[in-house]
Amino acid sequence: MTDEMNLTIEPERPRVLVVDDSEDIQALIRFRLRGEDISLYQAFDAEDALKQSRELHPDLLLLDLNLPGQSGLELIHRLKDEHELSNIPVIFLTGTDDITTKVQAFDAGAVDYITKPFDGVELSARVRAALRTKRYLDLLATRAQLDGLTGLWNRAYFDDRLRDECAVSQRHKRPVSLIMLDIDHFKSLNDRFGHPFGDLVLQRVAQTLLATTRRTEIACRYGGEEFAVILRETDLEGAMKTAGRIRVAIELLEFKNEAEPVKVTASLGASSSEVFSGVFEPDDLMASADQALYKAKHGGRNQVCRA
Ligand code: GH3
Ligand code: MG
Ligand code: MG
Repeated sequence: MTDEMNLTIEPERPRVLVVDDSEDIQALIRFRLRGEDISLYQAFDAEDALKQSRELHPDLLLLDLNLPGQSGLELIHRLKDEHELSNIPVIFLTGTDDITTKVQAFDAGAVDYITKPFDGVELSARVRAALRTKRYLDLLATRAQLDGLTGLWNRAYFDDRLRDECAVSQRHKRPVSLIMLDIDHFKSLNDRFGHPFGDLVLQRVAQTLLATTRRTEIACRYGGEEFAVILRETDLEGAMKTAGRIRVAIELLEFKNEAEPVKVTASLGASSSEVFSGVFEPDDLMASADQALYKAKHGGRNQVCRA
């Protein structure tokens, strides 16, 4: 079941896109970097580089500033203007020792440069250094979207993702569903058994969410003892099944306080795009899943209700 779990990180070879109009330089760079654990791609002009960057999301660009047509400098500006591409580091290759050009490239956002004819060892070292920095920055960006206690996606990520998935759903006329979950009488668990016990419950509930959802389903800690799952390409019927599985799995968790068993349950509300006849906003989906959750609470807790 491990490969089905959410948040599994698959190590991938870093992708490096070499942008140079010279076949010889391309071949030379390929030869010089042959010992590095990277995947190399080639582009021969700025348009092609931009197109490949959008498809590949490279981890690094090695860019010749003297390209035919649009210059390398303009390409850097265009990358920085496009949100999705703006954090791709650029090392530029320059044939001259022209200070003005270097300053312009750095000001445009390049991270480093190499003067041609370049030394193979130096090229490799600069590529490794740039990739190392990129890895740290990616890690920080991911951390900022994770909840510290449970390791699930946090509220900020949830808000962004719900907005995106609602847009995708309406653009492609495909369903999207949302499950909201709230642990029952959580305050009294904290009061009776202490805050660390409450934290443990939150962690185990989070693990249960990951174990009972698919990789394409987005499990988040919404806040406090509330969780949310976004289900792409899933109708209300499917969301109800998943919510039912989650409810049972939580009920079956075994907790103990001083050898005494402690029961933990949760209430869940499910809603889906199909509930709305026309255009809907993420807030509408949220509100209707919340109403369903409210019904589950008032119906006696430890149950799933639908919008
Ligand atoms: P209901 O069944 O109606 O949901 O009742 P409840 O007690 O679960 O709900 P309520 O909203 O009254 O209490 C939520 C509690 O969750 C209050 C707050 O102290 C606690 N809480 C929020 N975040 C954390 C956390 O990170 N760790 C712990 N241990 N407790 C938390
Ligand atoms: Mg609550
Ligand atoms: Mg609660």
